[in-house]
Amino acid sequence: MTDGYQRFARSGPGKFLVGRLGLPNPVPLRRYRPGQPPLPGPAVVGSAKGGRLEDQVRKVLGQSGIDVVDTAERPGALVFDATGIDHAERLRELYDFFHPRIRGIAACGRVVVLGATPDGSRESIPQRALEGFTRSVGKELKRGATAQLVYVSGDADIESTLRFLLSAKSAYVDAQVIRVGDGLVARPEDWLTPLTGKVALVTGASRGIGASIADVLARDGAHVVALDIPAQGEELSAVANRVGGSALQLDITSPEAPAQLVDYFTARHGGVDIVVHNAGITRDKTLAKMTEAQWDAVLSVNLASQLRINDALLDGTLRTGGRIVGVSSIGGIAGNVGQTNYGTSKAGVIGMVNAYADLLAERGGTINAVAPGFIETRMTAAMPLFIREAGRRMNSMSQGGLPVDVAETIAWFASPASGGVNGNVVRVCGQSLLGA
Ligand code: NAD
Repeated sequence: MTDGYQRFARSGPGKFLVGRLGLPNPVPLRRYRPGQPPLPGPAVVGSAKGGRLEDQVRKVLGQSGIDVVDTAERPGALVFDATGIDHAERLRELYDFFHPRIRGIAACGRVVVLGATPDGSRESIPQRALEGFTRSVGKELKRGATAQLVYVSGDADIESTLRFLLSAKSAYVDAQVIRVGDGLVARPEDWLTPLTGKVALVTGASRGIGASIADVLARDGAHVVALDIPAQGEELSAVANRVGGSALQLDITSPEAPAQLVDYFTARHGGVDIVVHNAGITRDKTLAKMTEAQWDAVLSVNLASQLRINDALLDGTLRTGGRIVGVSSIGGIAGNVGQTNYGTSKAGVIGMVNAYADLLAERGGTINAVAPGFIETRMTAAMPLFIREAGRRMNSMSQGGLPVDVAETIAWFASPASGGVNGNVVRVCGQSLLGA
């Protein structure tokens, strides 16, 4: 799981060659540490005329300990409220704000553009245009800096989203378009532990990304029920002990699994607040060579079992304000040779988010998914060298992400303050070229 090229690029001769030959330059990304300042510098906030979010933005930044200044040589963030742009000509206001400032942005700095959710009307054409701007800025930014677009409808509460994007927790989330609407928002008493009192189920939690999700949800205050197959029992107990949670050995594809989960959560916790469908498998073969068993296993673990579990838990076990989080993949967006089964299942996870979003909203809850790109895990360590190297470099960060990057994104979805974040699929891929 070590990135030898990244080590080389940081060495003396490596730096020289990277500069001379214009090779990818994967800088170490700034990741969350308790107590660290959220940003690598102060934030500069701007607004197009008629923007409706600037006050909320300034207030949130102030509350999160971010200095807001008028000018800075090395800003840690540039935040622009573009909601007021109602004519194509006025897109020039983006240029006017960013052009003189973008060059100075700090390493691992943040660009956030706020827009009004486009509704297909003529007036919303310039709002739709913001996507192309943000994605292009994402590709131009160097040294670990990222750019995101947040579409905000009405006077939706964007505090949890701004706190996530304007922090090191979003290190490997780049060039994403996030939609925030109305929803049941509960501001946590303590932003360091927003999940206090919540019970979370994490499937596939014995290792890899799932273990990291368990760590981060527990860090944020949740009681984590870590689930995995019995064969992973030992590793599973180790994770559950580490996070002060519980271990649950269960195969999610077994016909009894949904009912067993309902019984488990009802008896022990009186319900569940957060369900993270992380368990997933690959059985790669080109379609012509794929066995029925390989197709069935992947569809069953990665999609069908999740739908059955949702339906069972939505029968009252998932509490009001509940969260469901799916784990898709850029393979489900872009498709991949040898992964017709996996791509189908992971695109199905996106369908799951779309299909359940209204239902969850009616119950004060949300459903969203992450779509990881190349994440450094055993799964990717087992890839053939050239495919692995391509996966690591073909993104704006020129490196793979870490399991914690996926976990932090899921923790943002899970927060009671993220009630307006519903029906989103957010890629954690460093702006991978695949499926872009
Ligand atoms: P992993 O193989 O390390 O972990 C998956 C876990 O799921 C394992 O512990 C496994 O035992 C468990 N699991 C499998 N079948 C199960 C079942 N029937 N019941 C209960 N548990 C079961 O994989 P990972 O790399 O940590 O991936 C986690 C998730 O992220 C998966 O859904 C994967 O598809 C997705 N993902 C990973 C990457 C990546 O780069 N690693 C990229 C995109 C998406």
